[in-house]
Amino acid sequence: MAPATDDTTSALDALRAEVEACALCELHVTRTRGVPGEGDPGSDLMFVGEAPGYHEDQQGRPFVGQAGRLLQQLLAGIGLTREQVFIANVLKSRPPNNRDPRPEEIAACQPYLWRQIELIRPRVICTLGNFATKLLSGDPAGITRVHGRPQPMQVGGHSLYLFPIFHPAAALYTPAMLATLKEDFLRLPELLQSAPPGEGLAAPSSATAGTQPAAAPAPAPESAPAPASAPSPAASARVGEAEQLGLF
Ligand code: SF4
Repeated sequence: MAPATDDTTSALDALRAEVEACALCELHVTRTRGVPGEGDPGSDLMFVGEAPGYHEDQQGRPFVGQAGRLLQQLLAGIGLTREQVFIANVLKSRPPNNRDPRPEEIAACQPYLWRQIELIRPRVICTLGNFATKLLSGDPAGITRVHGRPQPMQVGGHSLYLFPIFHPAAALYTPAMLATLKEDFLRLPELLQSAPPGEGLAAPSSATAGTQPAAAPAPAPESAPAPASAPSPAASARVGEAEQLGLF
């Protein structure tokens, strides 16, 4: 893990300020605080959830409720603290009463997430639950089918693994799901140590900014599915695509 450059830190600080002042969708009217995300900008590991809940909205920080405590316990189990990873959500403002995000809200907000990914350039993005997984993979397959399987992908010419797992909030009340979540989590250290997808082959052109399948086969476990056909940031901002992914 290389420390973040001053430029990366400054760009993330600027993004944070943008989110805190953002009024690009109606959620700015009902939120208490924007929740940009936080953690180590030089981390190899990034977590992406769906949207802030009540406690996150109050504090302006992601994953600070019960689900956040479980996430911290899981991280401790692999020798990490939350300060050593970066934690964010697809939506940066809380939907009222934790209702599902709407297409126009995702379209307005997701460019923030793509910018965070491009700045942090993690080795692994761990998507938490169905919503973030479908959006980032560009694949409508549900989390019960794809959890625990690394998917090679590219964001802005940077190769990484998408690693879907169950959302901690869902696992809190379902023992079987919690057991699976713990099991999947234990695979993270090995994945973080593995070579990035496509390493050793021709580097993709930086002109192919956006999210797309990795150009080369990944050294992922045999259970890993073929790379998903993920949309580019610009394309994935389209409401219609989000609908096709079964997010609504
Ligand atoms: S959800 Fe995103 S786009 Fe909507 S107001 Fe919040 S930061 Fe802006």
